[in-house]
Amino acid sequence: MKKIQMVDLKGQYKKIQSQINNSIENVINSTAFINGPEVKSFQNNLEKFLDAKHVIPCGNGTDALQISLMSLDLNTGDEIITPDFTFIATAEVIAFLGLKPVFVDVEPGSFNISPDSVKKSLSSKTKAIVPVHLFGQCANMTEINNIAKENNLFVIEDTAQALGAESLSGNGLISKAGTTGDIGTTSFFPSKNLGAYGDGGAIITNNDDLAKKIRHIGNHGMEKKYYHDSIGVNSRLDTIQAAILNVKLKYLDEYNRSRQKAAAFYDEAFQNLENITIPYHSEFSTHIFHQYTILTNPESRDPLRNHLARNDIPSMIYYPVPLHRQEAFGSYRFDDKMFPVTKNLSQRVLSLPMHTELEIEQLNYIVNHVIDFFNNHK
Ligand SMILES: *Cc1c(COP(=O)(O)O)cnc(C)c1O
Repeated sequence: MKKIQMVDLKGQYKKIQSQINNSIENVINSTAFINGPEVKSFQNNLEKFLDAKHVIPCGNGTDALQISLMSLDLNTGDEIITPDFTFIATAEVIAFLGLKPVFVDVEPGSFNISPDSVKKSLSSKTKAIVPVHLFGQCANMTEINNIAKENNLFVIEDTAQALGAESLSGNGLISKAGTTGDIGTTSFFPSKNLGAYGDGGAIITNNDDLAKKIRHIGNHGMEKKYYHDSIGVNSRLDTIQAAILNVKLKYLDEYNRSRQKAAAFYDEAFQNLENITIPYHSEFSTHIFHQYTILTNPESRDPLRNHLARNDIPSMIYYPVPLHRQEAFGSYRFDDKMFPVTKNLSQRVLSLPMHTELEIEQLNYIVNHVIDFFNNHK
């Protein structure tokens, strides 16, 4: 059996090796390393894939969030509502820009931002909501967008973990994750569902004015060369990464189906195991399993993780510390009692190996070791 990894980038590369190598060689031969034609064609291809009016490629998913917030003309101290249970990038950029991150609790099933908690945290200073489509499943965007509309707020969807997932609204409307709010952001970090071979990111919007502003900000605040209208940043997707992403985007749906297949295998094996809770399938979204995350009892998680590690099965805890408890946000002072779900999840989540190259033999080996663990720890 092949060694089990959390993510198997080498195995995935092997299957498309000649296409990838050709695409890289083309860029090197053209020497158009910055803003080469592949960047523009990737932009067009992703716009088509998402059915979005504008895609603006940039340096990484964190920049995508930062530039998006910069485009909204906010003032120091304005409040941005975002989930307590996510990767720090989502909230870091809010604080970095002098805005105030207002963390809210998540739903126990989907682990996504709770619309009820959002409502309770609204204030006269609230300017935007940044929901995160965690682990490959969309937040309840119908409800979030309604709250935003009623209160005149912007919505930025952090789609770093859910590119290709579909957001389902109550009236049967299906839209790609990242296209239902004012702005969507995503990341092409190598382990994401659409991963580059280095850093990369993109911003998505159907709003022409925002698209124009976002383009300026990501390019030193300029439209005409050497005339700068505003303070911007330098954030570009490099041409070699765009060339690689052009190849891999063609396989994104297939990659997501492979993840769903592996998840279905896990689901089937674990569904009657009383010691673990399998991932919830939300009515608001398809699930493309950026992570396959189970819940255990707090007391069994570390022993299970150690048991798996002893048998060469990696696993990860995403995320062990709620954002409101991170040192970095220490100065904001949040009431611990406001985040019971996040607290509970942070003590119980365990993500199992999940990628596009998992083989049945490996999946069997993993589930058997999980089941063995609980049979021996009754
Ligand atoms: C990966 C990730 C980001 C940041 O992406 P980078 O490209 O690493 O900057 C932001 N938000 C979430 C939820 C992520 O998972």
